Amino acid sequence: MIRRLQQLEKAASALEPAAVKRKKTRDKVIAYGEDFLKGIDSLKAYDYTADKGVGLLDSPVSEQGLDIDQVLALLRSNVDTHGLNPASGGYLGFIPGGGIYYSALGDYLADVTNRLAALFFGSPGAVRMENMMISWLAGILGFPATAAGNLTSGGSIANLIAVVTARDAKGIDSKKIPASVIYLTQQTHHSVQKAIRIAGLGECILRYMPMDSRYRMNAGELESAIRSDKQNGLNPFLVVASAGTTDTGAVDPLGKIGEIAAAEGLWFHADAAYGGFFILTQEGKIKLAGIEKADSVSIDPHKGLFLPYGLGAVVVKDMNSLRYSHYYLASYLQDAQGTNEEISPSDLSPELTKHFRGLRMWLPLKLLGTRPFVAALEEKLLLAKYFHREIVKMGFESACEPDLSVVTYRWIPKTGDPDDFNKRLAEEVVKDGRVFISSTVLDGKVTLRLAILSFRTHLKTIRLTLEILKEKVEGLEG
Ligand SMILES: *Cc1c(COP(=O)(O)O)cnc(C)c1O
Repeated sequence: MIRRLQQLEKAASALEPAAVKRKKTRDKVIAYGEDFLKGIDSLKAYDYTADKGVGLLDSPVSEQGLDIDQVLALLRSNVDTHGLNPASGGYLGFIPGGGIYYSALGDYLADVTNRLAALFFGSPGAVRMENMMISWLAGILGFPATAAGNLTSGGSIANLIAVVTARDAKGIDSKKIPASVIYLTQQTHHSVQKAIRIAGLGECILRYMPMDSRYRMNAGELESAIRSDKQNGLNPFLVVASAGTTDTGAVDPLGKIGEIAAAEGLWFHADAAYGGFFILTQEGKIKLAGIEKADSVSIDPHKGLFLPYGLGAVVVKDMNSLRYSHYYLASYLQDAQGTNEEISPSDLSPELTKHFRGLRMWLPLKLLGTRPFVAALEEKLLLAKYFHREIVKMGFESACEPDLSVVTYRWIPKTGDPDDFNKRLAEEVVKDGRVFISSTVLDGKVTLRLAILSFRTHLKTIRLTLEILKEKVEGLEG
C-alpha cells in the first residue's frame, strides 16, 4: 500500500508545478494576453470565418498533456479569432461591457488563493469583501444599509433570485398561482419570463402593460389594471420595471411604478442589469430616479461597470425576504453555519461553493477609485446623443433621443422593402467587421440598434461607425 501511494504521489506531481515551471507557463500566458491587447484597436469586432474554429475538435482531452505553446496556438486559431470580440471598442451590438484588465488580475488571485467565499466561517475576509460590494451597490441605488444581496454570475440569475424572493415574500403557493398576476411589458428582458418559468410561476397571469411611444411602461394603465384585477378576485403580486431596456435603453417611470406598487401591496422589481450603473452620473441619477423605491434591483457589473463576463448582482431591500427564500441547514456544515457578524452568500442565493467573485470587482474599484468609471459612463451617454444627432443628419429615421446609451434607427430606401434593406445593412456592417452592430424588431419593423457601453468605445469609434454606415448605405442603394 505504501509503495502504491508513493507511486501515485509521483504520478500526480504534475498537478503542482514548481516555481520555475509556473513562471515559464505564466510568462507565455501573460505574453498572449499582452499580444491580444496590443492589437485590440485593429482587431475585428466580429470575425466572419467559414470554419468557426472547428479545428478545436481535432484536439480532444487525452491522457497525455500538451505544452503551453501548443495549447495557446489552439486557443489563438480556434477561439480568439472567430465570431464576436466583446473586448473590442467596436462591439456596439446587444449590450457591450468590455472587460477591464484589473478584473483579470483579481480573478487570477482569487483562483490561486481559492478562498471559500460561500461561508463567513470559511473566509470571513472574502465574505466581508463581497458584502461590502453589495453595500456599495445598495448605497448608489439609494437603498438603506439594511439591504442585502448577492454577486451572481449575471443578470439572468439576479432576476431569478429576485423573482423567487418576490414569490415567497408574497406567499404565492401552488394554490394561489393560477389567480396571481405579474405585470411587465413586451420590452422586459426575456430572462424575466425565463425566471418566472423556472420559479414555477409559469401558470401565473402575465399582464403586458401598454407602453408610450418611447417603449416605457404606461403607469396609469398599470394602476387601473391592478385595480380591475383585484375587483375580479385576482391576486396581483409583482411588477417588473426596466431601468434601461435592452432593446432601446428605455427607462420605465420608476417613481410612479414604485408608488403604485407600494399603495397596492405589490413587490416591485427593477431590472437595471443594463442601465443601473448610469446612476453614478448626474444625468443618470435623474433618469433613474425612483429606483430606490424598488424592493429588489438587478444590476450587472459585467455591463455598466465594464468588468469581464461573469458578474451580475441582485440587491434586495429586505434581507429577511432574501434569506427566507435561500437559507438551508446541512448537518455536514453544522460547524460552519450559525450566527456571524456577516451574513454568508450561501444563505442568500441558490449557490454554495462558488467563485470568489468579489475580488474581480473590488480590485479595479480599489485601484482606480470610482472617478474613471463615472467619466466613462458619462462619455457613453454623450456618445449616444452624438450618434443620434449625426445619424438623423445623414437621413436615417430615428424616432427618439436615447434615454441612455442605446440608439435605434433605420434607413428608408428609395425603393424596395425597408425591412429587407435594414437587415442587409446590418449584415454588411457585421461582415465588414470593423464594428459590430445588431438589429431588432420594433412595432413590427426591422430596426438597427447601436448600444454604447464598452469602456473602449470613444468618439473615433462612433465616427468610424458613421462612416461605415454611410458607405454601406451607398453601396446598397447604388
Ligand atoms: C443583459 C440583461 C439581462 C440578462 O443579464 P445576463 O448578465 O446576460 O444574464 C437582464 N436584463 C436586462 C435589462 C439586460 O440588459
